[in-house]
Amino acid sequence: MSNSNSSTASQPKYRVLISQEWCKGCGICISFCPKNILAAEGLDQKVKVTDESLCINCTMCEVHCPDFAIQIVPSEANNER
Ligand code: SF4
Ligand code: SF4
Repeated sequence: MSNSNSSTASQPKYRVLISQEWCKGCGICISFCPKNILAAEGLDQKVKVTDESLCINCTMCEVHCPDFAIQIVPSEANNER
């Protein structure tokens, strides 16, 4: 919202939203993420983001998730153009 020029280096540019309800833990997104920031604690465990600030918005996870459980959205830190 704000147009602040303050440093946002530590803020993620994109939010990786994972539906803990829809994710079935197939691990497909984990294999496709080029930044290796998606992980699960074990087989069939729901996926979590390890470091959102590294996400490059390639959307590989989003397009390959068979359950539409991942969505990448720009964060407020990415509003400046
Ligand atoms: S591809 Fe989708 S359903 Fe499979 S682990 Fe990733 S978020 Fe969960
Ligand atoms: S958009 Fe790309 S970098 Fe970001 S979590 Fe998904 S696969 Fe990884």
